[in-house]
Amino acid sequence: MISATTKRLEMTDHLVNLFKSTPGDVIDKVVYLTQGKLYPDFAGIEIGMAEKMALRALAMASGLSMHEVKQELNRKGDIGLAAENLLKTKKQTALHKRELLVQDVYYALDRIAGTTGAGSVDMKVRTLSGLLSDAGPVEAKYIMRTVTGKMRLGIADMTILDALARAFASKDARRAIERAYNLTSDLGDVARALSREGIEGIKEYHSKVGRPVRMMLAQRLERAGEIVEKLGKAICEWKYDGERIQIHKFGDEVSLFSRRLENITGQYPDVAALVRHNLKVNEAIIEGECVAVDPDTGTMLPFQQLMHRRRKYGIEEAAKKFPAHMYLFDALLVEGEDLTQKPLIERRVRLRDMIAETNGFRLVYSLISDNVEEIETFFESAIENGCEGLILKDEDSIYQAGARSWLWIKLKRSFQSKMIEPIDVVIVGALMGRGRRSGSYGALLVAVYDHERDVFPTITKLGSGFTDEDLKNLPEILSPYRLEHKHARVESKLEADIWFEPALVMEMIGDELTLSPVHPCAYNEIRENAGIAVRFPRFTHRWRKDKAPEDATTVDEIVDMYKAQLKKIG
Ligand code: ATP
Repeated sequence: MISATTKRLEMTDHLVNLFKSTPGDVIDKVVYLTQGKLYPDFAGIEIGMAEKMALRALAMASGLSMHEVKQELNRKGDIGLAAENLLKTKKQTALHKRELLVQDVYYALDRIAGTTGAGSVDMKVRTLSGLLSDAGPVEAKYIMRTVTGKMRLGIADMTILDALARAFASKDARRAIERAYNLTSDLGDVARALSREGIEGIKEYHSKVGRPVRMMLAQRLERAGEIVEKLGKAICEWKYDGERIQIHKFGDEVSLFSRRLENITGQYPDVAALVRHNLKVNEAIIEGECVAVDPDTGTMLPFQQLMHRRRKYGIEEAAKKFPAHMYLFDALLVEGEDLTQKPLIERRVRLRDMIAETNGFRLVYSLISDNVEEIETFFESAIENGCEGLILKDEDSIYQAGARSWLWIKLKRSFQSKMIEPIDVVIVGALMGRGRRSGSYGALLVAVYDHERDVFPTITKLGSGFTDEDLKNLPEILSPYRLEHKHARVESKLEADIWFEPALVMEMIGDELTLSPVHPCAYNEIRENAGIAVRFPRFTHRWRKDKAPEDATTVDEIVDMYKAQLKKIG
């Protein structure tokens, strides 16, 4: 009946009748089967039987040859219709047919989905053939479509929720039922709770470890001022440029879910290890952004680096080359207690208390403020450090699962700019490296030349673009210029581990010039309390030994380049 209609209302009527007449112990299975599935999507289990295999089972069950079965498929153009027709002819002569129950179908399909390894093909074919032998022609039609992934009745999640509300509660309960679904992404689980306890079961419903919560999303506004007007004092967090991950932990078991609620644990063995070591509670659901980091310098890399994880093999190597750090921003459940209805300010305290912060597993950088200027400065430091901007969040906001909410508002730049020319910079300091670079320099602190004041203000920390050979040689090359303290003509707000006399000039390029509260180059010239810095800087591998430090790119040139960059965008 359901297959005969494409009208949503009629479909819902049929589903209501179906759910009402389904025994409570199999309601979840019926819900999954109506969508052609055995489990909710996040379980990642598909029946996925190849058409050829299914035809072999049909041949076996109908007592016909593969050739005859294929001919029927060609005639009908649909594997379900072919099965229906062939079995109709056979069934008329069959003596005995036992009644097929939903659970019989479900468990047989589950066995087919779960059989792997040697001999699994024959086993799958035999299981399906057995099932078809017990099935009526119409049942066989749907079974064949389901096993081959062609059971497309087009029943949306929302239609199922409508039908569940009408079957087990009332129309008024629709919102509460949808909320329950948003908390577990599992229609079968919601149906089971409803059929057992009616609306009471839904009131008590909460998030559960192992079932992903549909993620809360943010709205967007263009200016910090507009956001402050809307939210007042807000929690302003760096908006990291990575992949959102929802972490589920139970004992030693860790599952990681993506924004689309796929289980991506296999892609992030390093994140799973961080969770095991640093999430100190037994049971929790927390969220954060995962970012690839340059292991030598500790700087964050653009999102694209994480795409090396989207594959079956070589993940360990990718994780070694570009390890992932987790920047955490929310806690949804801890030790069985659902936190989604608690205010964000409290959830963050709970989050902080349940983790042992390390360099690679920590809370997002944040600031609580309603001061527009302060927020803008914070925004610039986020951009300079490789983030996309900020997300401002209402302190009292609950976690609105599955909603794009005005309680979270993102602030990104409205333009994309590009630094086209390389610049020449003077080395004025160095920061010691870690990981593969421990004992050597992790990054150089570099400056441009301020012609008017005859000083060298820093413009960036340069850690990329060096070969192993460069890294080995740098301490020796720079040793003649080493100083005990910062040089009098160097201006820097950052503390270097080692200072140098401004002497050596090198060429570098970056993705763009950005405003920065940290670097004093062109301080206060474009905006108050901000200088100009380079985002994603890298060494072009050209030493400019022909240039004296005073021949380096000047502050005036940097200001012109910054303005030109803006014009290009406009
Ligand atoms: P959306 O995810 O809102 O649909 P989108 O895919 O275009 O939009 P963005 O505009 O980049 O994504 O912004 C939202 C995303 O930012 C979040 O889904 C999350 O992955 C990421 N993010 C980074 N830092 C944070 C943070 N501190 N709080 C919440 N989300 C963050």
